[in-house]
Amino acid sequence: MTAAAGDTADPPDLRTVRLPSGKRVPALGQGTWHMAENPRRRRAEIESLRMGLDLGCTLIDTAEMYADGRAELLVGEAIEGRREEVVLVTKVLPSHASRRGTIAACEASLARLGTDRIDLYLLHWRGSVPLEDTVDAFTRLSDAGKIRYWGVSNFDVDDMIELAGLAGGDDVATDQVLYNLERRGIEFDLMPWCLARRIPVMAYSPMGQGRHLGHPALRTVAARRGVTPAQVALAWVLRSDGVIAIPKAGSAAHVRENRVAADLHLTEDELTLLDRVFAPPRAKQQLAIL
Ligand code: NAP
Repeated sequence: MTAAAGDTADPPDLRTVRLPSGKRVPALGQGTWHMAENPRRRRAEIESLRMGLDLGCTLIDTAEMYADGRAELLVGEAIEGRREEVVLVTKVLPSHASRRGTIAACEASLARLGTDRIDLYLLHWRGSVPLEDTVDAFTRLSDAGKIRYWGVSNFDVDDMIELAGLAGGDDVATDQVLYNLERRGIEFDLMPWCLARRIPVMAYSPMGQGRHLGHPALRTVAARRGVTPAQVALAWVLRSDGVIAIPKAGSAAHVRENRVAADLHLTEDELTLLDRVFAPPRAKQQLAIL
């Protein structure tokens, strides 16, 4: 038997990543995009999230956008009775991110999630609302105890610099961005910029939405280690300190498999092999988004 799936032994404690506040969160969380879209998958999705909590993947990422709020409802159901275990992350749409709109969106998310506090509230991407208005709303929500920390998503370096220059802007707790073997552009500038300021990067679509898992290089490394390509892809994203990965898994088997990946350390030879196929950036690339 390999370390891939069905490993029933107690896993070692999950590695954590430090937010700028000092709070530690698990390096491996759980995504929820496309959950709550198909009623027939609902039970399996809730069980997956609960299995993830059992395995220590207590950071759950969702958004008001996902399934038009139904993903937040599903998360609320999954974490019922377990709220204190969870680092709850959700996002406000840019079209709602005005001073008043952010507060109204937050209240609606809290109601759907069945809680009185969001741990990390993110601006989903940058829209036309001035950033200072959103930051002001985040600060007020934080003062009111409705959110603990706030951050951004899909911000490139120039956006981060602008944000850091605003009053209260340096309270940003994370930038959630696309990062996987095929999307390495952030390694050139955004990742070093964030990590130098101790702002963790939260990697979304860490397995490329499953699309590159059939790649021969991944399969080669996986076969040599007796693990799956998905585990190699996830271990690769998690190889750097200061990176949090939030794969979405719709089955308990996938969740277990992903949890094992958090303890998989790729060797220098394996990393070199992957670099040959999935080349690191040599110049600035515009931030890739989904
Ligand atoms: P992803 O996590 O890279 O990939 C999800 C896909 O991988 C699903 O099809 C899933 O299938 C499959 N999968 C999961 N575990 C697997 C395993 N062990 N073996 C084989 N396949 C596996 O992509 P994502 O959902 O786009 O990204 C993750 C999360 O990031 C999202 O759910 C969302 O929370 C967040 N996100 C944020 C943004 C943003 O703009 N901020 C954008 C995109 C995503 P099953 O469902 O069958 O398990």
